[in-house]
Amino acid sequence: MKLSHKLVISALIAHLILIGIFSIIFPFYFSRCLKTHYFGHLREKSKVIFLAIYEGLKKGWTGKDIEELLKSYKKEGIKVTIYNLKFLQKHPDLAKKLSLRKELMLTNKPYIFRYFYALSAQSRCLKCHSGINRGDLLGALEVDVSYFKEVVFVRKVVLFFLAIVALFLLIETYVIGYLQSKKITDSLLKLKEDIENSRTFTELILAERALDTIKTGITEIDALYEEWKRIFEKLKDLAVDKEILQLEIKLLEKIILTSEFIRDWKFYIKNLIKQIYEIVEISVVFTLFFIEKEVYDVEVFWIKKPSDEFKKYVEDTIRYEARKKFELSVLNFNHHIIYDRESFKKKEEEGLYFKTKSIILETPRIGGITGVGYSYDELLTTKEVALEAILTSLLNVIGSVKAINKHMKEVEYYATRDPLTGLYNHRVFWELIQYEIERAKRYNYKFSLMVIDIDNFKLINDTYGHTFGDKFLQEVARILKDSVRKGDIIARYGGDEFVIILPMANQEQAYSIALRIRDNFNNFYLAASDGRRVRVTVSIGIAVFPDHAKTAKELFMIADTLLFKAKKEGKNRIVVSSPEDIIAVQKEIAEMNFLVQSALAENRIIPYFQPIFDVKTNEVFAYEVLMRIETDEDTIPAAKFIAHAETLGLIYKMDQILMEKALSYAKEKSYKGYLFFNLSPKVIIVQEFVTNLLELVKKYDFPPSRIIFEITERETVRNIKLLEDFIRRLQAYGFKFCIDDFGAGFASYQYIKHFFVDFVKIEGEFILGLEKDSRIDRAVVESVVAFCKSLGIKMVAEFVETQKILDIIKELGIEYAQGYYLGKPKSEILNN
Ligand code: C2E
Ligand code: CA
Repeated sequence: MKLSHKLVISALIAHLILIGIFSIIFPFYFSRCLKTHYFGHLREKSKVIFLAIYEGLKKGWTGKDIEELLKSYKKEGIKVTIYNLKFLQKHPDLAKKLSLRKELMLTNKPYIFRYFYALSAQSRCLKCHSGINRGDLLGALEVDVSYFKEVVFVRKVVLFFLAIVALFLLIETYVIGYLQSKKITDSLLKLKEDIENSRTFTELILAERALDTIKTGITEIDALYEEWKRIFEKLKDLAVDKEILQLEIKLLEKIILTSEFIRDWKFYIKNLIKQIYEIVEISVVFTLFFIEKEVYDVEVFWIKKPSDEFKKYVEDTIRYEARKKFELSVLNFNHHIIYDRESFKKKEEEGLYFKTKSIILETPRIGGITGVGYSYDELLTTKEVALEAILTSLLNVIGSVKAINKHMKEVEYYATRDPLTGLYNHRVFWELIQYEIERAKRYNYKFSLMVIDIDNFKLINDTYGHTFGDKFLQEVARILKDSVRKGDIIARYGGDEFVIILPMANQEQAYSIALRIRDNFNNFYLAASDGRRVRVTVSIGIAVFPDHAKTAKELFMIADTLLFKAKKEGKNRIVVSSPEDIIAVQKEIAEMNFLVQSALAENRIIPYFQPIFDVKTNEVFAYEVLMRIETDEDTIPAAKFIAHAETLGLIYKMDQILMEKALSYAKEKSYKGYLFFNLSPKVIIVQEFVTNLLELVKKYDFPPSRIIFEITERETVRNIKLLEDFIRRLQAYGFKFCIDDFGAGFASYQYIKHFFVDFVKIEGEFILGLEKDSRIDRAVVESVVAFCKSLGIKMVAEFVETQKILDIIKELGIEYAQGYYLGKPKSEILNN
């Protein structure tokens, strides 16, 4: 109910009560007032009436005359009754009172005054009446007057007056109520509006300003508003904490988000400290971390420039903490100044107070301390609590950065090395041979490529087991290393196949090195557990740049073909190329090129789909689209022709066709899942790629967010910045990215440093290693998993060929799986 209404109703009730009380009290009070007035009046009247009667009697009036007289009085409204002695004797009470007071006024009849006048014997009476004494009561005269009319009149007047007053009072109450309530409601409305419009906590507490304008003049309500103001003030204090909390959340967001943060964490921390400084006046923040026993630098971030003594004092404090907590004493300090144009005042330096936090993470074993220095006086308790929270997140963030860096180093190592032998892996081999070709061209010299295969290695593996086989391969690597010069590059190409790049070596030099290798193997054995001496021979193919081929792929094909020839001719052989060999290889290359070109011309490029399963739910999550060429006899897998298509510069066109066919098919089948497409990173130089892609998804109504591009590194991109821009541009449209064959090759590691990807596909070779319980492959996969998890990247394991592999990847927490065991590539999507 509105205040004005409430007030009016209350006033009305009060008035009614007043009128009620008045109506009850009024008659009593009024009759009392009139009584005195009437008393005198009736006394005079009685005397006059008595005298009139007395004189009349003296003149000889009869009873009738007296009656006439009384009647005339009755007309005036005065009733006169005469009582004789007999009557009085019957009413002794009345007689007694009258003989005492001589007169009496009674009000025992409603609205009537009854005046009794005593008729006493006077001297003149004794003349006629005998046997009485002077003063004896002879009779009484009663004079009655009604005052009803007066009562009615006065009551009317008073009630009328009260009604007027009431009306006036009610109007006044209403107006006052209305004005007061307007004051209150206006301010409340303003407050309500401010509260409703505030989107942030800070805006909300600023609504407090609305309270300033409220002054109702009603002490209690004003006091209530004062209390509200106090609540708001308290909230304001808490808001500072909230801001700090938000900052803390920001800190945590950063860690999940970017690999950039990991690379440039000092830069980001500096910015964060700037933000913290705006809320809490801190002077210095430091971080110290170590991994295993290795001591890391102490980074000290100063808000302003410190004096030398102050710097030393802080360094000593940190040293003391480090010794106490982690028994570290050799520390290397790096100082960073955030606002380097300002310096600390002496007073500020003296009033410094330190707060530190420390942590130890288990795997890898990383420990650290973060600390903050601030002036104690300026810090509210709430802020102090918030500061602790910040320290904790800072500690976690930097701790995680260090942990990720450690995993990153591992991943980087395995990306370039074969984990078993420590030699370069095949991907790095392709990069290095490319580099060697460019160098040889520039300085105009020759180099040789040697492909080596261990004869009957499968037999060793089958007879003595994988562990022995692995040990044997490590020995092979050692012999190869011992057989070549320092600058020669050895890589494990796969299985039992090795390659060696021999810079500046011509065919003769290469041949003599090959002979040395063969001899070293002939002199070598490894004792098996049953004591038998296990020996091997090797077959070697050699090709020379630029004599036999002008590109890395052709050079490799020639050397590989010669190796095949050596094996066919009876193993333990070295084969160098003859003109016929070169022609044979070139013929093969020409055939493949023809296959690719004619497939393109005759529209024989078709998509195959291989399912990718969600490991947890066992359901198909996506399909990878793989390219196939259909011939009259056969369907040719991508592995056979992709490299040729890339060399011919046709892969972009083929990818375009394949994508259109796949999307059209997906539409036809109403496929609603995800599609993975392989993309050569070289497409970034094709101007119209993005435009065509956008047209395609529009045409076939396929949302970009369900397309994931797998970037491979068969052809390394020199300008990573260009690739980064290209990927960011597509990501803005919603397309997702995946790094293919992750973990094997330098580029994949480079990619992840430069842009954000949603998925990585772990290199199939490592996944296959899980089947053989290879400890090394497992370690690599585990390190990739730890790395991806810390960056929030989802993983796909490829080459899942057995239930055992599936079980292991499930146990390792890899989210998705693909492979022959789960589903081979097919020309159809099985509808789900
Ligand atoms: P990738 O992307 O690493 O593809 C995986 C290859 O492994 C495919 O061979 C696939 O058929 C095969 N594979 C699938 N499951 C298993 C398994 O359990 N065990 C083994 N050993 N292999 C399995 P494919 O189709 O011959 O492709 C070879 C490579 O050609 C692909 O390697 C990819 O890099 C490239 N490629 C395929 N399709 C396209 C395409 O449309 N465009 C481009 N640019 N490249 C493509
Ligand atoms: Ca792929």
